[in-house]
Amino acid sequence: MAQEPTELLATAQAPDAEWTAGDSADLYGIERWGNDYFGVSPDGCVTARTLNSEIQLLDVVKGMQERGLQMPALLRIENILDAQLVRLNEAFKSAIDSLGYRGRYQGVYPVKVNQQAQIVEEIAAFGERYGHGLEVGSKPELIVAMATLNTGSLIVCNGYKDQEFIDLGLQATQLGFKCFFVIETLTELPIVIERSRALSVAPLIGVRVKSTAGVSGHWQGTSGDRSMFGLTATQIVEVVDALREAEMLDRLQLLHCHLGSQIPDIRDIRGGIMEACRFYVDLIREGASLAYIDLGGGLAIDYTGWSTAHDQSRNYRLDEYCEDVVDVLTRVFDEQGIEHPTIVTESGRATVAYSSVLLFNVLDVTQFDTARIPQAPDNEHPSIGRLREIYAYLSPERVQECLNDANYYRNEIRELYRYGQLDLRQLSIAESLYLDLAHRIGSMVADMDDDEVPADLDQFKQPLEDIYYVNFSLFQSLPDVWAIDQLFPIMPIHRLGTQPDRQAVLADITCDCDGKIDSFIGKSARTKTLPVHRWQPGDEYYIGIFLVGAYQETLGDLHNLFGDTNVVSIRILKDGEFEFVRELHGDTIGEVLSYVEYDPKELQRRYRNTAEQAVRNGLITARQRQHIINTFNDCIQGYTYHEQAG
Ligand SMILES: *Cc1c(COP(=O)(O)O)cnc(C)c1O
Repeated sequence: MAQEPTELLATAQAPDAEWTAGDSADLYGIERWGNDYFGVSPDGCVTARTLNSEIQLLDVVKGMQERGLQMPALLRIENILDAQLVRLNEAFKSAIDSLGYRGRYQGVYPVKVNQQAQIVEEIAAFGERYGHGLEVGSKPELIVAMATLNTGSLIVCNGYKDQEFIDLGLQATQLGFKCFFVIETLTELPIVIERSRALSVAPLIGVRVKSTAGVSGHWQGTSGDRSMFGLTATQIVEVVDALREAEMLDRLQLLHCHLGSQIPDIRDIRGGIMEACRFYVDLIREGASLAYIDLGGGLAIDYTGWSTAHDQSRNYRLDEYCEDVVDVLTRVFDEQGIEHPTIVTESGRATVAYSSVLLFNVLDVTQFDTARIPQAPDNEHPSIGRLREIYAYLSPERVQECLNDANYYRNEIRELYRYGQLDLRQLSIAESLYLDLAHRIGSMVADMDDDEVPADLDQFKQPLEDIYYVNFSLFQSLPDVWAIDQLFPIMPIHRLGTQPDRQAVLADITCDCDGKIDSFIGKSARTKTLPVHRWQPGDEYYIGIFLVGAYQETLGDLHNLFGDTNVVSIRILKDGEFEFVRELHGDTIGEVLSYVEYDPKELQRRYRNTAEQAVRNGLITARQRQHIINTFNDCIQGYTYHEQAG
């Protein structure tokens, strides 16, 4: 991925007394990435809205606390999912109406993007009015589709299919489903032909073409000549010949083309569709009875809110995407005198990302700037004295020199400590002095013009950020942050009426050095820190990570045996009310242990024996044993994350 410029870090200063909730909204860009679903209330709380009704996420957190549901929790807002389905279908409908396209739109949701029953069932139920179906890539996903959808909705089967897969799909067709087998490899075609004859079912067949158009963005390897998926022109000809031979060419009714996921540049989409249309036209000429053109996924989410062709943004809006699709199809098919097919898309990310928010609390904070400069003890080492002397010449003109000196003496002091010339208390004084100097230098640099800033100060700023220790596992809940450097909008969900005057990186509860977030979304570039409010022990401070509905949930792993989080689904009602519709309790410790083949009962039995041994050895009483065993057993039944006492 290309290196992006990093915005200059603003050093922490006293909070701005004039600061408003609107300033926070602007700082975190919530209007830029929130897609009208999220905002900040005048009293400084993040809101979620649909149906012209607005609720505060903090109230949801309170409601969870009252129900004994601890942080971290994944919040699903069902009406946002519904609203996205409406927007997608209505945007296509209005593009079709305004451009005079004579086919219809019928979308499918790719199950792999978020397979959770709650999500898929909601899409199937709410999407029914649009005939919105499912795209599946495996037998388990097909099973879900067949048992969840109504027969008016499409099922599109991608992926490699064995005989059992094909039998299932043919039987779905017998029941009245429009269940398409998209041929991905030449080996599956003979199975489709043979099984449809054996079961006397006329199959619905599609072909997946390998797009030759290169697409920019993170997933560029999945498109173009290097794509692993789809058939080449030669292979398509072979499919056509084999179907003609089997007298089944009329069953070839769908052309499939998936350009990739999260395509940020609208020009790539136009180019890819243009190419798909060429294949469509030629297959019609070959005698196929095509009636559906499936353009796959790719509709991007503007995670960063930058509205650019950056990987994690997009330079188009939903209505523009739909108009471009319909426009290209209308032109090409009219030019070629071909009947307008049903347009299918497989938008996954764009359908589900907005509806989930990961909520968590802050557990602890490390701040590196010290408030008090320690007094010099009588026996202070001269090197520490040298550090103190820097204060006398600290000024913007000599900032580079001060930095060099501070680094020099800090290193010298560390060396002295290593050789036993200094004790721990002296080292501690030196550390405090150094950090205080660093802080002052950082503030001076923040006030300078860019061209005055000495070159190596970027690296120097590093120790100034606070570390906020937060209650979730990156590996479980945000695997793409770790694996592919995905950016998600992150912000506190309350206290926004005051200025977030600290800069922090987030360290997750796994304490793995990879379990951190140190890349955030700035106004126009990545930033290394997140603006946050000052945290003190005892503070309840909640942060949300937004737009996490796509791809995060089932890719997560059990790093350090942190399990699934609690999940809460709400529905926003009129008049600013909401209701809890479902709650799913996260994994217990016992469940997580059994995933990795421990038997919690056996662990309990062994621990009981150890405790009994301690009774025998006179270390504890039998009563104490009981208490110790209860603690152990309660813990096994509890949540894997940091729980608030009480
Ligand atoms: C993953 C995938 C999708 C979903 O793509 P999004 O960019 O999330 O919309 C659609 N179709 C196929 C074939 C896929 O593999």
